[in-house]
Amino acid sequence: MPSQSVVAAAFALATVLGPLHVAHAQTRAATLVLTNGHIVTVDSARPEAQATAIVGDRIVAVGTNADIKPYIASSTRVIDLRGKLAVPGLTDGHGHFMNLGQSKLQLDLTKAHTWDDIVAMVAAAAQKAKPGEWIVGRGWHQAKWDRPPVPAVEGNPVHTSLSAVSLNNPVVLTHASGHAVFVNAKAMQLAGITKTTPNPSGGEIVHDAQGNATGLLRESAQRLIGPARARSDSARSPVERAAEARHVVELAGADALSKGITSFHDAGSNFETIDLFKKLAGEGKLPVRLYVMVRFESNARMDSLLDRYRMQGYGNGYLTVRSIKRQIDGALGSNGAWLLEPYADLPRSSGLALESVEELTRAAEIAMKHDFQVNTHAIGDRANREVLNVYEKLFKANPGKTDLRWRIEHAQHIHPTDGPRFKQLGVIASMQGIHAVSDGPWVPAKLGPERAKAESYLFRSLWDSGAIVTNGTDTPVEDVDPIPSFYGTVSRITREGKVFLPEQRLTRAEALQSYTLNNAYASFQEKELGSITPGKLADITVLSKDIMTIPEREIPTARVVYTIVGGKIKYRQGGN
Ligand SMILES: [Zn+2]
Repeated sequence: MPSQSVVAAAFALATVLGPLHVAHAQTRAATLVLTNGHIVTVDSARPEAQATAIVGDRIVAVGTNADIKPYIASSTRVIDLRGKLAVPGLTDGHGHFMNLGQSKLQLDLTKAHTWDDIVAMVAAAAQKAKPGEWIVGRGWHQAKWDRPPVPAVEGNPVHTSLSAVSLNNPVVLTHASGHAVFVNAKAMQLAGITKTTPNPSGGEIVHDAQGNATGLLRESAQRLIGPARARSDSARSPVERAAEARHVVELAGADALSKGITSFHDAGSNFETIDLFKKLAGEGKLPVRLYVMVRFESNARMDSLLDRYRMQGYGNGYLTVRSIKRQIDGALGSNGAWLLEPYADLPRSSGLALESVEELTRAAEIAMKHDFQVNTHAIGDRANREVLNVYEKLFKANPGKTDLRWRIEHAQHIHPTDGPRFKQLGVIASMQGIHAVSDGPWVPAKLGPERAKAESYLFRSLWDSGAIVTNGTDTPVEDVDPIPSFYGTVSRITREGKVFLPEQRLTRAEALQSYTLNNAYASFQEKELGSITPGKLADITVLSKDIMTIPEREIPTARVVYTIVGGKIKYRQGGN
């Protein structure tokens, strides 16, 4: 039953709005009210507010403290924000959900200062591992080490020291970019990689001057170890594997929620993983909202199954599937990005095409047929151009299909003549602010300073052209934490404290929009998500510091106080 004050308020409202609104207003005792805050709504109709009322999983009102007071009944949970900042639930526009969870079960190599640190971590893990068990780590990056490894081939280590500390346990260490792995001798032996193993198409087995494999496997060569790992994996029972998959979802969700993420665009899962997400969504057990891109499936399977897997807001708005993920090139850090001109630091190479233009075209045709969005990873300027060409060709061939919102994931290095094509074609630039500042220190060496300046992480140029720019972290490539990515987007300050191409900075309001409403648009959910607007789902992030107004250098010190998804407090600083 609504309280007296709500009934009284309903009558008060009725005198203003007329009798039709009486019954409506009477039902509106809020379940949750946030009051006395600095609410930045990302809704141009009311950009700022003090308070908001939520009924169930929806926002019903936004306004001043006085406006919202009538919604407070005895049953209402009221949170006094004490001036804190509340923003629309932050969305990671590009990440890898299961990999994020799995990364919590692996050696975290992101903080290693040297290659020797990594060898020591593996040595410690090998002491504890069962015989034959795989030792898995991720996040190493040779550019982040204090000194280069010795010996080195093209700046990367050679496996001998790693192999010496793990003679009987295969080791696989994924590069921070996800575009290369480093393996030891045991892993190469199990995978059958020898001196004479040819490079797979779209990949490279790196060799030393004597022709021995160094242990570095670039791009598609990573897959050479897949069968050996799968053999070890299949030794476990289906029950064990299912339990682990659920655990991985929980780990990823807990990390995302603790960092204020309410929605997550998963840049690629196969149908089997989507089955798991659907099951969990049906049980109300998905921790955050997922927008899942279909990946790792053949064209034939997609053609026959896409319609069956299409979902829009399944499980109370927690699961949406209406896009596919493709990948045309690799990453810049591993010289795998596909460039128009050779690398400045590796003149023999212009990178690699991972997927042929013909294959991408065929996949895009299937997506078009089933009204699925196409989201293609493109880092290099050549890769971006080729993807724009494929999209343009298909758009022209299908003039009756509108509002397609196809995306380029990363859109990292774009030739000046291709920049305006994003807006012209309606292609979304799905970018990551954190990459600009993580990669900033070494991008000019890879591309040469002029090309870097003209082409790299063009947030401002794309935004001003009218293109939709989104934001995210590509986690676990980077931490899922949106604060450093927001800070990178507005400051362009790198780890070294230098400002990388400051002319490409976004304002804080733009960066917030890129992390909220634009991500909602990029997933066809802008009517439900992306702003604090009456009628939308009540996804709200509350921060300890007001990142919209505090001095810029203090932004990284902001922490999440509340993460609210669908009107439920899913994370609270310091626990519940
Ligand atoms: Zn990715």
